[in-house]
Amino acid sequence: MAAVKLLTASDIARLVKEVGLPRFVDGLIERMEETFRRWKELKVVPRVSFSYPWGMMEAMPASDSKLYAVKIVNGHPGNPARNLLTVAALGILADAETGYPLMVADATLLTAFRTGAACAVATKHLARRDSRVLGIIGTGAQSEFLCYAVSRVVPIEEVVFYDIDPLAMRKFEENARSLGLRARAAGSGREVAERADVLITATAVKGKRKVVERGWLKPGAHVNAVGGDAPGKTELDPQILLEAKVVVELLEQALVEGEVQNVGRGAVYAELWEIVSGLKPGRVSESELTVFDSVGVAVEDWAALTYLYGLASERGAGLDVDLLPSPLHPKNLFALLRR
Ligand code: NAD
Repeated sequence: MAAVKLLTASDIARLVKEVGLPRFVDGLIERMEETFRRWKELKVVPRVSFSYPWGMMEAMPASDSKLYAVKIVNGHPGNPARNLLTVAALGILADAETGYPLMVADATLLTAFRTGAACAVATKHLARRDSRVLGIIGTGAQSEFLCYAVSRVVPIEEVVFYDIDPLAMRKFEENARSLGLRARAAGSGREVAERADVLITATAVKGKRKVVERGWLKPGAHVNAVGGDAPGKTELDPQILLEAKVVVELLEQALVEGEVQNVGRGAVYAELWEIVSGLKPGRVSESELTVFDSVGVAVEDWAALTYLYGLASERGAGLDVDLLPSPLHPKNLFALLRR
């Protein structure tokens, strides 16, 4: 009988609590960095996206020689008005040798964790080491995960934040404090950008917007641009991209979905794996502007799902269910209907 591990969001939350949040996040950042280093050994493809009037649906497969993962995920900016998350996801991990699924898991929490971990890896290689002020514009569902992960790799003393929704700001302040982060509300996105050594943009704006303008950034700032992740949906003033050292996850996907869709491939310095592997230098001066133009790639979910599966198996988390048929004879599948 080939049991499949079923992990709900509550199972994952419980597992994180058991492991301890700092250890869980540090371990994931480490796994993410190692995965980017192994980039050339992995099967890497851009995701398949369908667009609707309400948002996007995406299927994201990635694999090494042993484990295959696929995530389905959405991006529906109007969902919070219906009391639903903007981003919800489901992940499947399978054994590449037999093709049999090993785990079916909520990947909503995991998406937030893995995006934070990817930003942390980029920040580690691109931000100034003495970055003290973290700024975030857009304090929705992803925000605490992003800030916490980044705070694990640079010595953040203060988080300055802004959202057009006062409720989202209040919620962020409370959660950030519970994470031990000193949070200070700003009156505008501009104020955040002007103060930040490391800036995160995580709004769910629709259309091509300038949530951040070039003139607002400090010399030597690093930007993790997270919210611009679909065709026609961007957050940065294109001038920032023309002047900064821009790093993407996967060029082919970034050119369609990322900030760089507005400026083209000439503005892209490197893919993140090239920096992590030491093929190209990350930051080389205190004053250069750097941007991680993140859209989210399947390899990051592969890293997160394999990490989760390892921890869940070790600690007996989740429910092992007989999800798939196991007929007495593999050619007699029909026998299941005759029982
Ligand atoms: P969310 O809807 O929960 O939060 C978005 C927040 O942005 C809301 O609180 C909203 O009020 C705020 N906002 C909108 N316009 C703003 C503006 N001009 N200035 C300040 N705040 C503004 O969404 P979420 O789940 O937190 O996701 C945030 C964004 O990140 C989405 O666009 C999502 O598609 C994207 N995302 C990217 C990745 C990635 O890997 N790059 C992963 C997950 C989510």
